[in-house]
This record gives sequence, structure tokens and C-alpha cells, in this order.
Amino acid sequence: MPNPRPFNPKQVLVETIVIGGGITGLTTAYRLQKSGRSYLLLEKSARLGGKIRSIHKNGYQMEAGPHTIHNRNAALMALCNELKVPLQKPHASAKRRFIYNGHQLLEVPHTPTGMLTSPLLSPWSKARMMLEPFLPVRKIRKTTSVEEYVTLRLGSGVAKTLIDPILSGIYASTADALSLQAIAPDLAEFNNTQNGSLLAYLKQKQQQHQGTPYQVYSIVGGLQTLVSAMADELNPARVLTGKHVCDVTRNEQGYYQVLTDTDEKYFAKNVVVATEAFQAATCLRVLSKGLFDRLNRIPYVPMAVVHLGFRREALQHELDGFGFLIPRHVGLKLLGAIWPSSMFDDRAPDQHCLLTCMLGGNKEADILHWGDAQLIHFALQGLSEALELHRSELLPTLQYVVRWPHAIPQFTPKHLETLESVRMEVERFAGLFLTGNYMKGVSLNDCVEQALNTVAIIKGEAPWPWKTHYEPIDPASLTAVIE
Ligand SMILES: Cc1cc2nc3c(=O)[nH]c(=O)nc-3n(C[C@H](O)[C@H](O)[C@H](O)COP(=O)(O)OP(=O)(O)OC[C@H]3O[C@@H](n4cnc5c(N)ncnc54)[C@H](O)[C@@H]3O)c2cc1C
Repeated sequence: MPNPRPFNPKQVLVETIVIGGGITGLTTAYRLQKSGRSYLLLEKSARLGGKIRSIHKNGYQMEAGPHTIHNRNAALMALCNELKVPLQKPHASAKRRFIYNGHQLLEVPHTPTGMLTSPLLSPWSKARMMLEPFLPVRKIRKTTSVEEYVTLRLGSGVAKTLIDPILSGIYASTADALSLQAIAPDLAEFNNTQNGSLLAYLKQKQQQHQGTPYQVYSIVGGLQTLVSAMADELNPARVLTGKHVCDVTRNEQGYYQVLTDTDEKYFAKNVVVATEAFQAATCLRVLSKGLFDRLNRIPYVPMAVVHLGFRREALQHELDGFGFLIPRHVGLKLLGAIWPSSMFDDRAPDQHCLLTCMLGGNKEADILHWGDAQLIHFALQGLSEALELHRSELLPTLQYVVRWPHAIPQFTPKHLETLESVRMEVERFAGLFLTGNYMKGVSLNDCVEQALNTVAIIKGEAPWPWKTHYEPIDPASLTAVIE
């Protein structure tokens, strides 16, 4: 999208400046525009979408970042409907997900009863699991790790064999490194306020979702279609790419002054920082040393996504499902792989298939130093073991590597304390909003929900969540000169 003519910086005053054009920032801008509010979106890179990027190459359709969305969040589904983006439902077999236990791929059961008959868990783990409803409930603290909780309730077998790989599929992290309360606040609240067991919690959730079976989706053309649909709706004069914000300060009139690395200045009543935490820290370092320090405490893990295309006949495996995950104790570098061409018909050329391999995460921070050949080697090694294929059969017809140095923020046992201290500091700055996947959850659903909350506060429809006074303004009182 070409940038419009240069501004006279002194004139540019809008109600809200949104920094960052990932799904969080884009949804914020889109909602502001729909509500008739004046805004300006500044994105550092040449493209919008942040972690969302769909790639089309040699007849393959790949995702560099997120692959799927799901229907357990009304906000994202409503956004897709409103924008008329065509959702793409995978084949029914996508419900099947597997874990490689070091010997074979085993299907993950969907119900607690299924667990008891699954060969995934040892007889001892199953017996231990059955004690869960009878164990006394202990208070979950902010610092309680997922591993502590699951080991206490279900035993270490379940924690290592089942929970660890599932978390690595979402957070590229392990159960010992994640705070239960940060990633599952509802469960922690149920445990702490209703003294409820895990089984009771799962039953309650099942009842709540009755009638709406869990369903994952993609979007025709890839998730990038959602980004493009939103971008098409936005006024191009309000969306500026290639604008790296390096500083946010406040002037005497109480307006925020946003400075880019090319010395352009923009003024606003509100600033929504929708970037990664460490990027927000840098933008805000002059405004608040406290925010700089605290936001920089939120760690990120790197990931590499290795797309491999094969002739379908060369892989003597059914690939009948979503894909598989590998527990860390198995000792492979590969975290897991998705089978996009098994889920959707348009992901690989005729007679070919696409396997998308994930590497990296919290235990493998040095992947960033690995070259493409090394990453592909470890991806092939993992595939060959898990799918029981000889390496000589695995001759890719396509290899495409994507690196994410800061893929996923980590909700460590210190995360909630850090966020609390961030909130205490943000309170000092009426009109400053910090949002993005490190605040409430990493899924696209969480990001969209947060964006909607932010806009509701700006419009005065939801209360300012902190102690300081925030007066929503009448947009007509501002003269936005960008047309
Ligand atoms: C490999 C991978 C797989 C994933 N799979 C899934 C999945 O299947 N389903 C799912 O729901 N989620 C998935 N996620 C998570 C999800 O993609 C992210 O949490 C989400 O996209 C984050 O969106 P965001 O807008 O908060 O941040 P980002 O997408 O990181 O966007 C932040 C934006 O801010 C911009 N920016 C940064 N600094 C500045 C600055 N100083 N000035 C201006 N702009 C700036 C950046 O360029 C970027 O565009 C996955 C993530 C990864 C990495």
C-alpha cells in the first residue's frame, strides 16, 4: 500500500494513535474507524498482519505464523462474519491429533474416559489420574506452574506425556515454565473460589459448550485474507506502513507525541501500543523508565517454521489428522508437525503433500544460530522417526524456512506479577493503552478480544480499568487533518 503525501507534522492530531499493525492493532484501528473515531495506525514493517503471513509458492499455500482459528471465541468469529471472509472448515479427520511417544504416533483422546483406555498413558498414570476427584484442592498461586498443578492433580506421567507437548504446541514452552493462573485464569478461579477439582471444572466447561462443538478453521487464501479484508476497509491515509515508532512522550497540553525513526511527529489524545512487549518498552522508555524495565521482563522464545513439500506417493503414511506433537523427554529437536494438506485441499499441488514442522521454543533458544540446512535436517529427522519413514524416502520437493526470533511471549510463573506492576505504572498515564498477545493470551481470539475492549474504553462504553481518571473525549473536539 503506497504511503500518501508527507504530512505537515505539526498538524497531525488524531484521537488515537495505534502503534503496530498485527491483528491486535489492526482490529483496534478497524473498530475505531467503524465507530467514526479518528485514528492513525503506524506499522514499522512494509506489510500489515504481524505474525500472520500466508505464503503462496510453487503451488503450495503455507502459513508463516498462525495456522488456524477456532470457534470458542465469539469476537473473532463475528469479525470474520462481518468482513465476509470465507472460513475454511478442515476435513473431519483434522479432529485427530497425535503424540509421538518415542516409539509410535498415538492419538490424543478427547475425553477423560478416553484417557483411561488410551495407550498414551501407562497403567500407573491412569490409576493415578483416577484419584483426581478425591484429592484435596490446594490454592493455586500466581506463581504455581502448570507442571506443579498437573503433577499434583494427575501425576507426573500426564504432565510429561500429555500436557508438556500440548503446551509446546501453543506456547513453544514447557509445563514447568508456564504459570497456570496466567494461561488458565478460569481454572485457577474455579479451583480457588469453588474449591473445585479439575474433573469438576472440565465437566462444567463441557456443559457450557454443549451445542457448540469445538471446531477449527482456516480462511480461504490463508489467514492473510483476514488481514487484507480489514486493511481494505481502512482509510489508506490513516494506515502508514514503514513507520517505526521510536518514542512516545507527552507535551504540555497533555497530548501524546509519537515520534518515528524518520523524525515524523504525530499527536494524539490516546496511544494504543499494540506491539510486542519489548518493542513497547523501547517506545515508552522516555515516558516511563518503570514501563521500560517492566515490559522488558517479559521473555519471548524463538521458533523456526520449516515447510516441507513431498510427492504424496513417496510418504508411506496416512497423514490422517491435524498433525502431531513430541514431548521433550523423547529428545528430538522437532516440537511437532502440522499436516496442512491433509486438512485442506488447497495447500499443496496435485499428488503432493505439505508438512509444516515447528522447532525452537524455551528449551532450544539457540535455533536462531542454525542455518536452513540444519533446521531442515532436524525437521526431517523428527519426521522420519515419528512417521517411521526411512530418511532416503524423505526427499522434499519444497523447502521453505521461516524464523521468528521473538515468536511467542512466555507466561512464566512471574508473568502475572510483572503484568500487575506494568498496570500500576500505566495507571499514571490516562489515555495510554498497552495491548497485544502478552497481556491476556497468545491466540488470535485473545488478541481480537483485547482490541475490542480497548476500543470500548476509548468510546466510553467500558470503564477505564485503572484507578486514575480517564475522560473519554468527544471526537468532534479534535481536528484530524489527515484526509
Ligand atoms: C509460529 C507461530 C504459530 C502460531 N500459531 C497460532 C495459531 O495457530 N492460532 C492462533 O490463534 N495463534 C497462533 N499464534 C499466535 C498469534 O499468531 C500471535 O499471538 C498474534 O498474531 C499476535 O498478534 P499481535 O497483533 O498482538 O502482535 P504481532 O503480530 O507481533 O504484531 C505486532 C506488530 O507491531 C509492529 N511493531 C513492533 N514494533 C513497532 C514499532 N516500534 N513501531 C511500529 N510498529 C511496530 C510489528 O512490526 C508487528 O506488525 C502463532 C504464533 C507463531 C509465531
